[in-house]
Amino acid sequence: MAEHLASIFGTEKDRVNCPFYFKIGACRHGDRCSRLHNRPTVSPTIVLANMYQRPDMITPGVDAQGQPIDPEKMQEHFEDFYEDIYEELSKFGEVETLNVCDNLADHMIGNVYVQFREEEQAVAAHNALQGSLRRTAATVGATVILCM
Ligand SMILES: [Zn+2]
Repeated sequence: MAEHLASIFGTEKDRVNCPFYFKIGACRHGDRCSRLHNRPTVSPTIVLANMYQRPDMITPGVDAQGQPIDPEKMQEHFEDFYEDIYEELSKFGEVETLNVCDNLADHMIGNVYVQFREEEQAVAAHNALQGSLRRTAATVGATVILCM
């Protein structure tokens, strides 16, 4: 029985623990999810929730004033962000993978997933960024958590 539960932990067969939250640190049901939202205690990967603020996040292709945005400007905006965040994260260790979510769903938008080479590097980044995000008014609401 325990072996069976261990084998389905964090998978879609698990009716108790939410597989989406466990894997990606986000779930479309949020606090209303019927399954438990567990965070791994150790992982080489962190998620910076809703970190990338795309210029057209309200309506795709259009800015907040309703003006169309040049796709090249969008790309530039993204590349500037990517370079900055890569540089910032590299201070904590070797970045193996850096993904910025392009999904427009509330629980996914702008999520930045960072996989470090070592778990300790992810923990160091997590602790440092959690502290700095709390101090930065512009990113209130952004959270940093470990995920698989
Ligand atoms: Zn969930």
